[in-house]
Amino acid sequence: MTRIERRAFSLALDSPLSTAAGEIDRREGIAIRVGDDPRGVGEATPLPGWTESFEGCRTALSGVSESDPRAALADLDGRPATRHGLSLAIADREARRAGVPLYRHLGGKRRVERLAVNATVGDGSIEETVEAATNAIAEGFETIKCKIGSRPLDEDLERVRAVYDAVSDVALRLDANGAWDRREADRALDALANLDVEYVEQPLPADDVAGHRALAGGPVPIALDETLADRSPDGIDSLVDAADVLVLKPMALGGPDRTLDIGRRMQDEGLGIVITTTIDAVIARTGAIHVAAALDVERACGLATADLLEEDIGTDPATVRDGKIAVPQAAGLGTDGPWGGGDA
Ligand SMILES: [Mg+2]
Repeated sequence: MTRIERRAFSLALDSPLSTAAGEIDRREGIAIRVGDDPRGVGEATPLPGWTESFEGCRTALSGVSESDPRAALADLDGRPATRHGLSLAIADREARRAGVPLYRHLGGKRRVERLAVNATVGDGSIEETVEAATNAIAEGFETIKCKIGSRPLDEDLERVRAVYDAVSDVALRLDANGAWDRREADRALDALANLDVEYVEQPLPADDVAGHRALAGGPVPIALDETLADRSPDGIDSLVDAADVLVLKPMALGGPDRTLDIGRRMQDEGLGIVITTTIDAVIARTGAIHVAAALDVERACGLATADLLEEDIGTDPATVRDGKIAVPQAAGLGTDGPWGGGDA
């Protein structure tokens, strides 16, 4: 028998987060611990529009057999957050038993001490946007992700142009969150072609795969994010010619193991990979760091999201400094979450 413990949590967000399914102001999930000596920890933090619901997680987790938790993974298709929590806990336990950091257990070939992370600049006036970008650069970030798509296109293009003029030696990526139609996307990409943009993320709605296919491989690289929600691994393989970069969220893809499989296949196909959290608590954030380290991702990842939460379920082992996040080198994940004692 393998003991399985569960602890539900609800964490206030620092400011409301707009998701594919509306605004939320809290992140609710379930921390999981499996086994005895060593134990492994995982986290299921569902995100509306991307995964099953919190209730769906709770029900699925209560049905996991203590006689063989690993076998339960096969029954969790369609429940990516639940599968993520269980898969991460099992992998953490195995890595602790092997005495290696999780990313090495997941197949990481070399020691990775720090990973580049992006700063996110939200929607705002031109002045606010430029100020947020220059503040991030002063903190040492070398990649800025600027949210666009909430304003008329010309206003957004002005904001981007102002940031481009105000900064140098940084990678500037834009996230439109699917806001444009094809005509607007064409016009935007024409205007952005001489601004040396790293990529535009999700210019078109999530279901417009054909539209993205027509844009990918052009002068401005295209990244897909929302289009990956609710897709099986095979469904993601079919996106290979519809993007230049894929944004992979372990929580939405069903866990570290699945994210690694997809990431490695896409890297072999020549696509760029970016790993991001889904604004999770410390266990899942740290898990995403290990996935990025195992894939040896070079592009800045969306992992510096701890500050978006007002509180957390445990001590954070991954500090951000000079635009880089520390990869924990202790055996396993590097945090015990709510079971760690030194809770924040
Ligand atoms: Mg995005």
